[in-house]
Amino acid sequence: MKIQVYSSHHTRISPSGAHRWLNCPSSVFLPHLGEEGESEAAWNGTLMHAAAAKAIIQRLRPSVMVGATFTKSNENGGWEDLPDTFTPEMAETIRPYVEYCREMASVLGDKEAFVWEVEMPLDFDFLLGKAEAVRGTADFVAWDRANGLLHIVDLKTGHWPVSPVDNPQLMLYAMGAAKAIANADPRFITEPTRRVTFTIVQPKAGGVQSVTVDVSKELRVFFNQVMEATDALDRAMKDPEAHVVEGLWCKFCPAAAACPAKLGNAVEFVELMAQSPQDMGDREVARLLELAPDVNLWIKEAKREAVKRNGVPGWRIAPPRRKRVWKDATAAERYLAANGVKTPIPSPAQAIKKHTVPDDLWHWEATGSQRLVRDDSPFGDQA
Ligand code: SF4
Repeated sequence: MKIQVYSSHHTRISPSGAHRWLNCPSSVFLPHLGEEGESEAAWNGTLMHAAAAKAIIQRLRPSVMVGATFTKSNENGGWEDLPDTFTPEMAETIRPYVEYCREMASVLGDKEAFVWEVEMPLDFDFLLGKAEAVRGTADFVAWDRANGLLHIVDLKTGHWPVSPVDNPQLMLYAMGAAKAIANADPRFITEPTRRVTFTIVQPKAGGVQSVTVDVSKELRVFFNQVMEATDALDRAMKDPEAHVVEGLWCKFCPAAAACPAKLGNAVEFVELMAQSPQDMGDREVARLLELAPDVNLWIKEAKREAVKRNGVPGWRIAPPRRKRVWKDATAAERYLAANGVKTPIPSPAQAIKKHTVPDDLWHWEATGSQRLVRDDSPFGDQA
């Protein structure tokens, strides 16, 4: 079985970064220094979203896709096979989301009164297009026409907890989806949708969480906020360094390594360290702790630079870590079932801990990217 992954066009202003750029528009226009290549977690998230879409559309249980490989669309309109395999852990992560969406689609399955779509491509140029193109993809959108209700469902595959309450990413999806549905079906205008239900399905933090809002209240307030952001984005585009605004949204900022506020914090940290923490007052120690993550940014940046240079004196590049994967998930499932292990089957590493597993059922596969290690590190080349 093959799972198709569609290439998406990366835009600097996207719904997933809305919490950040609504608060700090400069983060869009400062250089995104750490952005070469996707992190392993982000890439696995992309693979899981592709698998979840297939499972919803084709009414498949995620566990039956274990062992499937992935193929990705390329710029020439063709497909390229990927080395990745759909694992039991991935199946377990997407299962609650697939079940939630399938349940919704089947309970409200009357096509006339209820329409739904997975991986719905949306554009937001009508809202924010002054600065530059804004694109996004909503995981699952459903219009419950009979009840004047729009559903926006989002799968989160990570551990960082995300709430559907006052979530700008989901509110932008609602606006983009409303425009897309209205273009396809004028009844979306003539039979107004009055409420929107936002749902986050995050198996690794919080499970399924939903909130319903009124279009005329909460979404109207958010719409005004987006309109103000359009002007702020324009100002930040002209002079990004002058408009940085620090806050909780800095956590995943791709421009952090080029941010003047973060550089100022690192400099302040070094100045404070002229004195030993033992000789500092409480306020200074607290400030030191507050600034410490920003010093890490520069350490991370130095490591990234060393990798880019293929090593620097005293430091070398070690191969990626490895993990065991099933060679053939069906054969592994058959073997484990014969030994009393039920589906979904565990990973080879988990299976080996509890059972005798023949070596020819699994093999090593590289995971993650190259690592920077000290020249004399005894661990660098180990799995
Ligand atoms: S790190 Fe800097 S540019 Fe990024 S959001 Fe924070 S203040 Fe803005």
